[in-house]
Amino acid sequence: MILSKPWQLDGLPDNEMGAKVRAKYAGLKFLGYWAWPKTEYTEASVGLPDPHDFVDVDWDTVQRKAVIRHLQAGQVFESWRGSSWCRFRCGAGKMGSTCLTDGKYVWPQGFAHYVTEHHVRPPQEFVNHVLGVKLSV
Ligand SMILES: [Zn+2]
Repeated sequence: MILSKPWQLDGLPDNEMGAKVRAKYAGLKFLGYWAWPKTEYTEASVGLPDPHDFVDVDWDTVQRKAVIRHLQAGQVFESWRGSSWCRFRCGAGKMGSTCLTDGKYVWPQGFAHYVTEHHVRPPQEFVNHVLGVKLSV
């Protein structure tokens, strides 16, 4: 679920503006970006994951709450014109139109909704990052 490069960089022009945008995204990791439902397939989301595959209702509550707080506390990284919508089609409005960051990871503003409402569990790499766990080599 963690991407090293956002898909929208693929179409950037090979000029100063393109280089500026690429530099802004360099070194960051991206998560919480979903494909459209298979029944509403579009080119734009090819290769992105389906949040239904990450539901874990038994996930540790303490970790889950820490991740939700972290996701909600992100700083605005990018603002978009259109608002996002829930891939679970739960009817939630106001999923947000910004991407947030903690300086290392970038996620859509609405990602917290998936964790809160649909028990989507982010990859352990991100959970460890949030919890400040140092991985032993
Ligand atoms: Zn929802």
